Amino acid sequence: MKTVTVGSIAIDSIKTPFGEVRDVLGGSASYFSISASYFTSVGIIGVVGKDFPEEYIELFKKRGIDTSGIKFEGGRTFRWAGDYGYDLNNPKTINLELNVFEKFKPEVPEKMRNVEILFLAAIHPELQMAVLHEINAKLVISDTRDHWIKGNKKKLVEVLKRTDGLLINEEEARMLSEEYNILKAARAIMKMGPEFVVIKRGEYGAVLFYRDKIFYVPAYPLEVIFDPTGAGDSFAGGFTGFLAHTGDYSFDNMKKAVVYGSAMGSFAVEKFSVERLIDLKEGEIFERASKFKEFVEFEL
Ligand code: AMP
Repeated sequence: MKTVTVGSIAIDSIKTPFGEVRDVLGGSASYFSISASYFTSVGIIGVVGKDFPEEYIELFKKRGIDTSGIKFEGGRTFRWAGDYGYDLNNPKTINLELNVFEKFKPEVPEKMRNVEILFLAAIHPELQMAVLHEINAKLVISDTRDHWIKGNKKKLVEVLKRTDGLLINEEEARMLSEEYNILKAARAIMKMGPEFVVIKRGEYGAVLFYRDKIFYVPAYPLEVIFDPTGAGDSFAGGFTGFLAHTGDYSFDNMKKAVVYGSAMGSFAVEKFSVERLIDLKEGEIFERASKFKEFVEFEL
């Protein structure tokens, strides 16, 4: 297996200015793995409860995702309910139930112990660390949330020491580094351990910092951002999946990975939950990625 992720597998209820859905598939590991599955082989490590619909497990399997690292516990699945106002970058959390996630002890199946890339989605840094100890990966990429930066910074910094690349949004990068300017923020984060940092800037795109090199990619222009949930995790899936597939971790190849990540993030927000992501055609992904070239190509 080329890629393994550990993260939340959730049942979400979401309200955006364009509509509302209840009890749909969510969670960082879900978005990540579905997105990455277009590029490489993926396994998930996570936990669900008795209420988790079998059809969602089938949906993972349909994408060829290895679900043997998902634990089934007798309780309710992790649930998140969010309400986006017109500021689509900041959902209001209406409900957060950790449920089976609260006592989750990750177990790594034998076949997931040696991988190309381990992606630590934005979960408690203790859990990220536990999985880090169990998996031998060529590259470790991680993500985090404001919640862990505020409440568990010490443990998070330990994870960062063992992280090759951090994917993080702009606000979180400022919070983690205590620097407002994103260039300074990225440099400060790289001093904590990662060799590269991708700062995600929502509708303004993403910036890759790799040692002393920088690459900017715009966001794909969309008229309607239907549901921003999971955009970052889908970005991470495209970015990581492409890198794992190619096995090339050079700056030039990471530029392409950032573009594939941006393309996958843009698909994710076009519909609720994983609806748009689930049955993309390969040609569609390449076509969208190619558009980025068009948007930024110019002559001086
Ligand atoms: P986001 O990356 O913020 O768009 O969120 C993607 C997914 O993260 C959602 O589908 C939620 O189920 C999940 N999520 C929300 N809050 C948390 C949390 N505190 N810990 C783990 N997962 C979460």
